[in-house]
Amino acid sequence: MTGSTKYIFVTGGVTSSLGKGIISASLAKLLQARGFTVTIQKLDPYINVDPGTLNPYEHGECFVTEDGAETDLDLGHYERFLDVPTSQANNVTTGRIYQNVINKERRGEYLGKTVQVIPHITDEIKRHIQALGRKGIYDFVITEVGGTVGDIESLPYVESIRQLKWEKGKDCLTIHLTLLPFLQTSGELKTKPTQHSVKEMLSLGVQPDVLVCRTEHPMQKGMKEKIALFCNVDATAVIESRDAQTIYDVPMMMQEEGLDRVVLQKLGITGYPEADLSAWTDFLHRYKEPKREVHIGLVGKYVELHDAYKSIKEALEHAGAENETKVHIKWVHSEKLNAKNVAKHLAGLTGIVVAPGFGHRGIEGKIEAIKYAREQKVPFLGICLGMQCAVIEFGRNVLGLTDANSTEMNADTAHPVIAMMEEQKNVENKGGTMRLGAYPCKLTEGSTAYAVYGRKDISERHRHRYEFNNSYLEDYRKAGMEATGINPKGKLVEIVEVKGHPWFVGVQFHPEYRSTVMKPHPLFVGFVQAAVKAAVPVGEKAEA
Ligand code: GLN
Repeated sequence: MTGSTKYIFVTGGVTSSLGKGIISASLAKLLQARGFTVTIQKLDPYINVDPGTLNPYEHGECFVTEDGAETDLDLGHYERFLDVPTSQANNVTTGRIYQNVINKERRGEYLGKTVQVIPHITDEIKRHIQALGRKGIYDFVITEVGGTVGDIESLPYVESIRQLKWEKGKDCLTIHLTLLPFLQTSGELKTKPTQHSVKEMLSLGVQPDVLVCRTEHPMQKGMKEKIALFCNVDATAVIESRDAQTIYDVPMMMQEEGLDRVVLQKLGITGYPEADLSAWTDFLHRYKEPKREVHIGLVGKYVELHDAYKSIKEALEHAGAENETKVHIKWVHSEKLNAKNVAKHLAGLTGIVVAPGFGHRGIEGKIEAIKYAREQKVPFLGICLGMQCAVIEFGRNVLGLTDANSTEMNADTAHPVIAMMEEQKNVENKGGTMRLGAYPCKLTEGSTAYAVYGRKDISERHRHRYEFNNSYLEDYRKAGMEATGINPKGKLVEIVEVKGHPWFVGVQFHPEYRSTVMKPHPLFVGFVQAAVKAAVPVGEKAEA
């Protein structure tokens, strides 16, 4: 596209959890499928500098980018929809904004001025919004503002949008998401909360250009016109967003409603072809009309909150679609598993994933699940802590090191088979100090990992402080657990596999962050394939 970068803001009103992230990602997808370059950014109004130190119960999973930023889980959606890596610049919190401003103040950069929310905090927010645009590679920067308009915390963000709209004029556009509640007793959808929410925006000086109305039921005739009249928008700019069967349907639904068309029209961009979503539709077809099904257990300690394992869940679904298989996930609470009940809890599953995590809660249950998977020859994928638990389990039950443990769980263990990485030993601050982001890894030919990736050199994202203790490497190898992926520089073990098992892979990295709709991750694809194979009734297996 010739000309300047366009800035699209996505705000939310009435309630939280309306799915701003999915609407942003869907619009981005539609623009991308028309041939534009797009990136999406999330501004989070909380004081934490990043979500890295947040308990997953608070905000769900922490998504790690290639450059090692610990970010909001919405960035996972952006990457899964767009297939374009995000970075630290794609997620900014109020905490980071204030930290930058305070650091500048300490350096004397404000030259004796009183530092204030307006203009200093808003300038910093505007700088972050435009930093992506200044790269000169994006036609569109979509900025999603977390929280709900009207919150005290959101005020500086809405004010920054107001200023940018004033400064940039036609290069900016605001999309406001609202809710149309359905009143059971009168059998109607109600527009009043939307009207109030737009009034709230207006009182802050921002007129939304497009309204996306979330609704459980179809909008009634004349409703778009009514909203348009009360909210100063065109009726074509009132977009109905019905509850979708899956998040991956939303781009199509938004295309049907003309969201991308109205956005382009309002920004004065003409002459671009309609979005070609054929590859996306192919995926949806495989996803929704599977030929078979498989039951996979996901063992973790946050299973009550599926968002805590968002990327793993999505990666399993992508891999399922790739295998034309419906993946049913059984969420297994690791704290509830013990030697006595493990077989009962995991019965009938033909694949077991043991999730990442921190601290010792639920660790023994994870180890029991791994013992079961190893002994019963159930395909197994251990991720980060899941891989570390596989090493502990093997140490205890195969090598006979009864005290084998990670020093994270027991600093005084006689057999620290997982130990803190050297460079972590002097680290004091908790935030942003782990081994984070993408690192290269070399695979051993002939391994399961090599078979699924189909190449020797890979790069995957990390988030950990502890690591396989290389002084045990030889003992493990002799007993049948091999390191099949190694970081070429630091010699850190990145992958372990158990020989003689149909599919047993533990990875120190997080493959789930790199799985996208268009490029399902090879490890998940291979794992689901193995689970499908394991699910074939014994009789059929013998014939094959
Ligand atoms: N707690 C482990 C470590 O820090 C594993 C981390 C993880 O699973 N992301 O090494």
